[in-house]
Amino acid sequence: MKRNNPVLNLVIPCYNEESALPYTEKVLTKKMAELIENNQISKNSKVILVDDGSKDKTWNTIMDMHENDAMYIGIKLAHNKGHQNALLAGLMYAKDHADIAISMDADLQDDVNVIDDMLEKYRSGCEIVYGVRSSRTKDTFFKRFTAEGFYRFMSLMGVDIVFNHADCRLMSKVALEGLAEYREVNLFLRGIVPGIGYQTGISYYERNERVAGSSKYPLKKMLSFAIDGITSFSVKPLRMIAVIGFIILLLSFLVLLYSLIMKLIGNTVSGWTFIVCSIWLIGGIQTLCLGIIGEYIGKIYNETKHRPRYIIETITDK
Ligand code: UDP
Ligand code: MG
Repeated sequence: MKRNNPVLNLVIPCYNEESALPYTEKVLTKKMAELIENNQISKNSKVILVDDGSKDKTWNTIMDMHENDAMYIGIKLAHNKGHQNALLAGLMYAKDHADIAISMDADLQDDVNVIDDMLEKYRSGCEIVYGVRSSRTKDTFFKRFTAEGFYRFMSLMGVDIVFNHADCRLMSKVALEGLAEYREVNLFLRGIVPGIGYQTGISYYERNERVAGSSKYPLKKMLSFAIDGITSFSVKPLRMIAVIGFIILLLSFLVLLYSLIMKLIGNTVSGWTFIVCSIWLIGGIQTLCLGIIGEYIGKIYNETKHRPRYIIETITDK
């Protein structure tokens, strides 16, 4: 496979980014020209701007950019479908038109110079290169705290993700073809991509401040993103119900013993022992049963995703 001079599609989802795009255009035009000049990427490389149903003048700006320079390609989604879906739309375009895709945010918080290192890792054989934030000193305390808490909580909940890696990554054509096999609707790319496999690498970069406009991820969206991430990837919360049920059941035997002793000592009013024992025993059995049902629901949920059971990397038949 061609590893030198690949056709790159830089995929950028844009939602209400009219104020950031003029700056982004300046930086990207310069960076792409530099990469082409140094023969790091093919001159047929493009920047794919996906307008995620913006309400401002983002699409007009994108059309102007395309008019001025055919390197910019615009894809307009008919409706605001969220960052992950917009990104997927761009990546699936790249799968058919390029050798590699690199995804980045429109606000260029991810340093564009990380592309050089990513290309280097690609040339040395990596099919996926994760961009990882080496520090978040330029993020607000709140953003840093919530974002890092998010990664820790995800790992605790059993989701396989790369710490401090958002959606800035390089994927080669084969990795994109792997990604296309995942047909799920609740998209959480950070969880899916590590599951694809292949040789992977990591490129570190400093995260910058947003160039213009405001974050499109307020706390509410961040929380729903985190919940989506966990519930799309892990049956651990369901399994926890069964564990809690089992613990309550064990405790209920202690309560049983305690209330019997109380009754024998004569420390109780009539009927107390029966009621206390019933509540604990029934409570434990019910929670345990919910956990068992949860196990089956977890299986159904995994089946309905129709995820690929395997992806073949090579066969030695020639
Ligand atoms: N974005 C999108 N659709 C949305 C929300 C965000 O395409 O519904 C894009 C946005 O334009 C940006 C990227 O997703 O390019 C990341 O958003 P943002 O920079 O606001 O997130 P933050 O860096 O604050 O986490
Ligand atoms: Mg941002």
